[in-house]
Amino acid sequence: MISLSVFAKLFSLAWGDNVHPVHVVICLQRDPEMLESASEIQKALSNECRKTMKEDNAYGQALSFKYHYLSCIVAEVIKYQMQQKAIKAETEKLDSIEGLIRKLMKCNSSGVPEYQEAFLRKTIRTYPNKENIIYLHIVTTLDASNPPSALSVMTHAINSQRHLFPKSKICVTCGEDKAARKCSKCKAVQYCDRECQRLHWFVHKKACTRLDQNIAPSAKISNADKEQISNAGKEQISNAVSSRLRNLSVN
Ligand SMILES: [Zn+2]
Ligand SMILES: [Zn+2]
Repeated sequence: MISLSVFAKLFSLAWGDNVHPVHVVICLQRDPEMLESASEIQKALSNECRKTMKEDNAYGQALSFKYHYLSCIVAEVIKYQMQQKAIKAETEKLDSIEGLIRKLMKCNSSGVPEYQEAFLRKTIRTYPNKENIIYLHIVTTLDASNPPSALSVMTHAINSQRHLFPKSKICVTCGEDKAARKCSKCKAVQYCDRECQRLHWFVHKKACTRLDQNIAPSAKISNADKEQISNAGKEQISNAVSSRLRNLSVN
């Protein structure tokens, strides 16, 4: 049985419009009570998916697909935790879910989060009601040549049945709206908080230096750098002077 407080949290997760897998995993990771009830949550979500599956309006069908998708993520978290338990000794349990978050964010050389894309496509393929119009829409869009990312297709399909305001500041880690923190170095990406920024750094660090290099080099030199440059200059001059002095004394 799910406790009332877990049920309330599950409800807000299922009704939120951020379906980014990293967001869902972070919600579980940050809440021990949710994590503890992961298998009950997964069962409840599959039940809801089945219950709403036969609804004949687009809104009900979008909801059914969303329940299925969320249940797949929770199942992935459970699976990942089991794998980690098998590898690590119980005593060094650390933060086992962070590995899954990193896996979901890791990009290939073209900047595509390969694991995330494969995972999302798998959750789409395993949706049981193949007549669901939301499902059909997603599959047709992803089947086209040069399809957009599975995440964007799914987010759009799930949320198209709801009234949405355009979002401006999206966290690059978890897709949450109203991300208030910017990368202080390149100022090109936004995060919810320090934790989202920390999680994303292994993905962002390469892009960040690239973005940073696009800024005019003169504008980039910090005071510390200037000091170092001028110190290096002084050193060079003093080396030259002392070598001239040495030469003088030899002659
Ligand atoms: Zn975030
Ligand atoms: Zn940056």
